[in-house]
Amino acid sequence: MNRIGVLGSNFAGLTAALEIKHALHEDVDVTVMSKSNRFLFTPSLIWLPFGWRKPEDITFPVGPVLESHKVHFENVEATRIVPERNEVETATGRRSYDYLVIATGAQAYVDEVPGLGPERNSHNITMLEHAQPTQAAWERSVTDPGPAVIGATQGAS
Ligand SMILES: Cc1cc2nc3c(=O)[nH]c(=O)nc-3n(C[C@H](O)[C@H](O)[C@H](O)COP(=O)(O)OP(=O)(O)OC[C@H]3O[C@@H](n4cnc5c(N)ncnc54)[C@H](O)[C@@H]3O)c2cc1C
Repeated sequence: MNRIGVLGSNFAGLTAALEIKHALHEDVDVTVMSKSNRFLFTPSLIWLPFGWRKPEDITFPVGPVLESHKVHFENVEATRIVPERNEVETATGRRSYDYLVIATGAQAYVDEVPGLGPERNSHNITMLEHAQPTQAAWERSVTDPGPAVIGATQGAS
């Protein structure tokens, strides 16, 4: 039986794991490893800063969904992939696989430009942990707007 490892449990990881399991049934042993144990419906992050949604409204525990389809779930972060040994390294040891799906999404470098970033002068809603402080910043801005400067950094859409 082939062991399939899937890194990430959001749109790509969840879909890949279920599609593989549904297509190959007992021929595969599928394990999803993800640093988050909750599925995040990212498009709804836009509502968080305005208090129209709470984190629990736009996330759900992903492990039980996978397990109900006979897909294993591990809440663990991959720290390194060693393809020559078909291994993934995690904080709690190595995991072996025959085939690996990498579905870890994009990494936003929100503080790449000096002066910008959540701890400095800008806020973003690309990640749950950043969308929540954005709500506090929005509320401060509504309470005491002060002078407004509208601009865009290089590469911003
Ligand atoms: C505000 C906002 C609105 C959006 N609106 C839309 C929209 O309307 N329509 C649309 O099509 N798209 C939209 N998108 C884009 C869409 O959300 C992404 O394309 C989608 O989330 C990508 O899915 P993914 O599974 O590839 O990655 P992600 O959703 O980023 O998931 C990555 C997964 O990998 C896990 N992970 C990351 N690193 C590791 C690691 N080292 N080890 C283990 N696990 C790891 C994470 O915990 C997560 O489970 C929006 C995005 C944002 C931010």
